[in-house]
Amino acid sequence: MKTLPRFSFGVGDRFAHEAEAQLAAFERLAAAGVVVAPVWNKSNREHTFIGSEPASVQAAAAAAVANRKWPHPWFVDADHIRLDTVDRFLASSDFFTIDVADSIGKPAQPADVAAFVARHPELGKPVSVPGIAKVIRLSEDSVAAIAGKYLLACREAGEIWRHIRAGRGDDVVVEVSMDETDAPQTPPQLLVILALLAEEKIPLQTIAPKFTGRFNKGVDYVGDLVQFEQEFSDDVAICAFAAKHYGLPDSLKLSVHSGSDKFSLYPVIRRTLARTGAGVHLKTAGTTWLEEVIGLAEAGGDGLALAREIYAYALDHVDEFCAPYASVIDIDRTRLPPAAEVNGWSGPRLAAAIRHVPTCPDFNPHVRQLLHVSFKVAAKHGTRYTDLLVANRDVVARQVTDNIYDRHLKPLFLG
Ligand SMILES: [Zn+2]
Repeated sequence: MKTLPRFSFGVGDRFAHEAEAQLAAFERLAAAGVVVAPVWNKSNREHTFIGSEPASVQAAAAAAVANRKWPHPWFVDADHIRLDTVDRFLASSDFFTIDVADSIGKPAQPADVAAFVARHPELGKPVSVPGIAKVIRLSEDSVAAIAGKYLLACREAGEIWRHIRAGRGDDVVVEVSMDETDAPQTPPQLLVILALLAEEKIPLQTIAPKFTGRFNKGVDYVGDLVQFEQEFSDDVAICAFAAKHYGLPDSLKLSVHSGSDKFSLYPVIRRTLARTGAGVHLKTAGTTWLEEVIGLAEAGGDGLALAREIYAYALDHVDEFCAPYASVIDIDRTRLPPAAEVNGWSGPRLAAAIRHVPTCPDFNPHVRQLLHVSFKVAAKHGTRYTDLLVANRDVVARQVTDNIYDRHLKPLFLG
């Protein structure tokens, strides 16, 4: 098993041009005294939308690490893979996020559920978990109900893990994700889920539950911060407890998906990590693509022209682009300015509308979210887009690095 360090942070690089600029942010943090492992993640869905191959993520990351002489661990995450999509990731990934959210709630055989409950009488008794004030009290019936809901998802995770091990060996990091579903998982449910995953002998290092509240793409968290803090803290305690009692790796930690731009959560997470000594993995992805558009707008000339065109096209295709992400965006269409108006904006004005500085009067979260889900437009432009990234490398890289460092890594790990 490859061990994931205490702190790790996922970055997406949709067009494989920003790995060095992203790595520069981790260097800045390391110079300030905190080493965080970069994990380049890209899901099968994103590869499909763009028409890229998983090997391109690994190649870009490896080149950045070599060019900048990054001396610390780094990883390439096959994000949200399933049995039917994992194969093309095997050769170039060393981190696998096994997504079994679709199998949550599929009815398990009653005999299998009963056997699990019988193997785990401890779960039906009061469980006192260090770090959680309230003793967890699940009746045998509620253990059976939770196991019934998650058993097939966890068995499927086991099947996918064994497929990865057969094809790739076990020198990898394994995450299981259950975030892309409707209902959040409570800490007692997480305990049962971890017991189920441990039975599959998955060397689980990160688990991505669905947390309470809304994790919209590219904008801040919407929800009850007090409730989130309680839940996050309890989940941290459950992970440590489950690692110890069910033989999961000591490095087991929480993974926060759609973690970019969740500015109000970072102090909460930082406090919890400092208090408990726990680690965390936090994934971001599309926030870097938005910085590319901001950089092109700032660059002016052909870059600005393309940034305006991307907006106009996205506005024309708002239904198509928003559909796959409907549950993770909140766009008020009356707040999307017409293309003619945006065409009259200067580069800095357009950049300010997209850049996530909530206190800036020109910031427009609706424009930002629309562009967040519209990266297919850039793929459509092919080399016209990527040539402009190269031609304006410095200004784009500055946006990418500052965004990852100033708005993400620093508040999350330094305060
Ligand atoms: Zn996710």
